[in-house]
Amino acid sequence: MQHDLIIIGAGPAGCSAALEALSRNLSVILLERRALPRHKTCGGGVPVAAAALLPEVDIEQACEARLRFMRHTFRFGSPYCWPVSADPEDASLDVLSVTRSRFDLLLAEAAAARGADLRTEARAVALEEGAEGVSVTVSHSGWQDRLAARYAICADGAVGPSSRWAGRTNRASAIAMEVEVPIDWRSAPELLSRQTMHLEFGSVPNGYAWAFPKADCVNVGAGFFAPGANAHGSATVARLRQVIAETCRHLGLPHDPAAATFHSHPIPLWQADAPLVSRGSRILHAGDAATLVNPLFGDGILHALRSGRMAAAAVASGATSGYAADVRRIFGGPFSGARRISGVFYRFPERCYHAGVVRPGATVMAARMLAGESLYGQAWGKVLARLRWTRG
Ligand SMILES: Cc1cc2nc3c(=O)[nH]c(=O)nc-3n(C[C@H](O)[C@H](O)[C@H](O)COP(=O)(O)OP(=O)(O)OC[C@H]3O[C@@H](n4cnc5c(N)ncnc54)[C@H](O)[C@@H]3O)c2cc1C
Repeated sequence: MQHDLIIIGAGPAGCSAALEALSRNLSVILLERRALPRHKTCGGGVPVAAAALLPEVDIEQACEARLRFMRHTFRFGSPYCWPVSADPEDASLDVLSVTRSRFDLLLAEAAAARGADLRTEARAVALEEGAEGVSVTVSHSGWQDRLAARYAICADGAVGPSSRWAGRTNRASAIAMEVEVPIDWRSAPELLSRQTMHLEFGSVPNGYAWAFPKADCVNVGAGFFAPGANAHGSATVARLRQVIAETCRHLGLPHDPAAATFHSHPIPLWQADAPLVSRGSRILHAGDAATLVNPLFGDGILHALRSGRMAAAAVASGATSGYAADVRRIFGGPFSGARRISGVFYRFPERCYHAGVVRPGATVMAARMLAGESLYGQAWGKVLARLRWTRG
């Protein structure tokens, strides 16, 4: 067998898997169907905690704004702005605002520099598992190739083919849309600062809208996040565009929808029965391909990085059959808690906004959850107690 590992997809999950595998002296082919850098539809909010999962990379290099405050609104009213940490000196809960094309390129280049055989414009079109290893058919412009390795990690994101290969035809997912609105920070509207992210609730049924400052633009987006919000039709798209326009108007951000490029993309919220390991334990799934997206916030970068490393560590140790149980243990509990909150929060957004968001401790708790802390049980208890109290 020529290689130890073939990784399909060079996003955060695939690149972190490659970095972990290389640190354990495995030989790695990293396949990416697009040319790099490539656009990835995303808000680009990365918690500082992600740095610990990428010791090989200085992710600050990709940081365009360091977000230290969350400003919330409900239907563009009742504004509430609070720092992400109670201690102004503490930067551990900051959110780094990155542009995904640059962030992902940084990771892919780090993997290539450490010895990954990075092949771009190389699309995996078939994957077979045998007793001794896997075989991947790769389509390059106009010709096909077959590669063999001992193991494969599918890190091909929300719309890659791996979940179909694993026999899954029905992927429940949320949907989100974003647009980059240019800004000159020297003459920015009063409500916008490079340290503040904006989160708007109530305008998007079953979801929220955001604005994340970057170096020379603001990423403004909106998503339907609640479980079961599976409407990907034209009415959904029109509503998301409308909320994005309203968010820009509210922030005083000049936005010409006719000139803007809107990107929309499914978000595969966590499903406990998603494919994680193949029957022969030689194919593992990580990141969005394993539905490792938080059902409350729709964030997936941290989980992609973590699961990519876990998958590669399992390959290196030969203990791949335990990977599924590890993923369910580490992500399953918190994501189930997040789903429970999401189901109530997005159903009764106004009451939950006042009971669960407009509170000094709530912003810090949200930032800690975004940084990977499992506080959903605690958060759920607090919201429930306040809801009961406000009712009575
Ligand atoms: C609008 C929107 C906003 C979001 N905002 C945030 C945010 O602010 N913070 C956050 O944490 N998360 C956010 N997310 C979620 C986040 O984008 C994903 O969870 C994250 O990108 C998952 O990383 P990944 O590596 O699993 O997949 P991806 O980043 O999708 O990477 C998969 C890669 O695989 C490649 N690929 C696919 N098929 C093949 C194939 N057959 N052969 C070879 N290569 C293939 C793709 O080209 C791609 O490069 C957002 C998502 C959306 C849609």
